[in-house]
Amino acid sequence: MEKAPDVGELTPPDRTLMGPGPSDVHPRVLRAMSTPLVGHLDPSFVEIMNEVQELLRYTFRTDNQWTIPVSGTGSASMEAAIGNLVEPGDTALVPTNGYFGGRMQSMAERAGGEVVHVDAPWGEPLDPADVEAAFDEHSIDVFGFVHAETSTGVKQPGVSELTDIAHSHDAYVIADTVTSLGGVELRVDEWDIDVAYSGPQKCLSCPPGASPLTLNDRAMDKVLSREEEPRSWYLDLSLLEGYWGEERAYHHTAPVTNVYALREALRLVAEEGIEARWERHLDVAGELKSGLEAMGLEMNAPDEYWLPSLNAVRVPSGVDDGAVIAHLLDEYDLEIASGLGDLSGEIWRIGCMGYSARPKNVEYVLSALADALEAEGYDTEQVTAAPSDD
Ligand SMILES: *Cc1c(COP(=O)(O)O)cnc(C)c1O
Repeated sequence: MEKAPDVGELTPPDRTLMGPGPSDVHPRVLRAMSTPLVGHLDPSFVEIMNEVQELLRYTFRTDNQWTIPVSGTGSASMEAAIGNLVEPGDTALVPTNGYFGGRMQSMAERAGGEVVHVDAPWGEPLDPADVEAAFDEHSIDVFGFVHAETSTGVKQPGVSELTDIAHSHDAYVIADTVTSLGGVELRVDEWDIDVAYSGPQKCLSCPPGASPLTLNDRAMDKVLSREEEPRSWYLDLSLLEGYWGEERAYHHTAPVTNVYALREALRLVAEEGIEARWERHLDVAGELKSGLEAMGLEMNAPDEYWLPSLNAVRVPSGVDDGAVIAHLLDEYDLEIASGLGDLSGEIWRIGCMGYSARPKNVEYVLSALADALEAEGYDTEQVTAAPSDD
């Protein structure tokens, strides 16, 4: 290449992010990311690491010593959980009711595990009776489930019941809490979850890059007494212990700026109070839901397992889901997403996460969506305009 490429200054569009993540980043988090770097072993950074770990324990509602941000996106903390806990020859039970159960399966297989399934349709939670039946049929070592399934807008209810079933069969429980941490009630210790992983760019409203993970001592004992090393060197928790544990020795260069960002995002959680934050997500997403229903739209999940941080809305017949998404992006700089897998073409996915979970954003989504639907010939007044029976 002879000439230097003529690439202009970076000017990304000013989007409002109401999709499945990333969510809008809080200005304080963006500011934290523009502060100077220190070394990843600098005494001041060691202090920051301790603070992030404390804040993560608070947010996960756990006393687990083993609570760290994994370098990488949510899939990195996911692979750290699965790749360390599942040993070659172990049997892992994974769900089939959404996109991320499939990813759990791939990771468990790559770790050398045998995979068995607990089935439920996309858009529905797991039935504890089916989980129990799977445990009766197979000898299961690790049970993974998705607390907040971002592909379907379903929140798994009755988590304690699921962990009880697994523990009565001496299995370990891994929970995907990527779209619940910091947005939806989640109590790692009280619900007896052995391992939970998450991501920063959903309800924590932080850019992707350093992803929360917590393991209790029981799970960590299994990890530290493995016969065979995990297949990933980078995500080997017995090695990461050297950096995040007592020793604080070099393993890899931590993404310093992402750790700053996560610290500030978690400080915002602590300032608001975790329970108040869950409450806010319920209230603001509740406004979104009522507004959608007032337009004659239907939520995909019934109230018992509706996920406030990710609202799956049925696409009305005759409306092109992609045209609406494009209209919102082009005319309103507003991001929402389409359905995946079995729900492709059937739902829109509207996130209501962290800093994006504000009344202002909800009003914006509702008015922009009404306009986009009308452009598609859908009558948003139909509910109120419908003649009554009496
Ligand atoms: C987003 C997401 C992931 C993966 O996170 P990435 O940051 O995209 O790697 C895993 N599980 C669920 C439920 C998610 O929503």
